[in-house]
Amino acid sequence: MNFVIFSLGSNMGNRLAYLNLAIKGLENQLGDLLIKSNVFETEAWGNKAQTSFLNQVVVFQTNKKPEACLNILQSIEKEQQRKRNEHWGPRTLDIDILFFNQEIINTHRLIIPHPFLEKRLFVLLPLSQILADFVHPKLQKNILQLLQECKDNTQVEKHINGI
Ligand code: ADP
Ligand code: MG
Repeated sequence: MNFVIFSLGSNMGNRLAYLNLAIKGLENQLGDLLIKSNVFETEAWGNKAQTSFLNQVVVFQTNKKPEACLNILQSIEKEQQRKRNEHWGPRTLDIDILFFNQEIINTHRLIIPHPFLEKRLFVLLPLSQILADFVHPKLQKNILQLLQECKDNTQVEKHINGI
């Protein structure tokens, strides 16, 4: 059995509904939801003119391999008609794999642990809620340490309806 940790993000339309659709899609196609963080509201990253993001981290148990997980998340993203015309532009739904067990993977399609996750408060904050002790297999530090060392000062707050 594998443990896979996803980061979910949305900054278009009914953002909370998109996060929930992502979770439902993963439950249908990938495996069992084990834990989910609160939903956090994040000021747009890399492009301050757009709507703020809702972000959440979820942990699943699955018997699928990493490539199969990527295929599933991409089909869920496609289903939600994610617009891909602007880099770091508005998107209905972004699903990224943060960790897959303690594996380190570098292929043309997949980089795990997800690059730059240690630089992003919108990932570290929800992660620290549910997996503070989880050790980043490459950096060999746990999430709480990474959060304390993170210099990202983007505003990230708990979203009122996303408990
Ligand atoms: P980003 O999430 O970086 O803003 P996209 O969602 O458009 O950008 O993803 C671009 C590509 O990232 C995908 O085609 C996918 O193959 C690749 N990718 C590499 N590593 C991962 C990962 N850990 N999780 C999700 N996608 C990944
Ligand atoms: Mg992505």
